[in-house]
Amino acid sequence: MTNAWDERKKALENEFFHRLEQEKIEKMKEEAREQSIRQVCLGRCPKCGEAIVPMIFRGVPLDKCPGCGGVWLGPKDIQILAEKDHRTWFDKWFRGEEGEGE
Ligand SMILES: [Zn+2]
Repeated sequence: MTNAWDERKKALENEFFHRLEQEKIEKMKEEAREQSIRQVCLGRCPKCGEAIVPMIFRGVPLDKCPGCGGVWLGPKDIQILAEKDHRTWFDKWFRGEEGEGE
């Protein structure tokens, strides 16, 4: 009777550790997947996948995508831009893109 119980206990323990191991492997796989996605996407446009190019707009370094025209601002860049010229920088940005006509 004790032997059967011990065996059952051992089996349950094994199952527990097997499941724990399995969860660890899944987590590692997920992390590896995330890491490789990040590596592939580094410096790439999240919208179209084109390689983004750095540019300077009003003294603030930005990243621009030549594929779709998207522009990426760093966490502080929009604040810096807004402080530089809080009235019209946005306006000038679009006018500048169309050429200095007026
Ligand atoms: Zn793009």
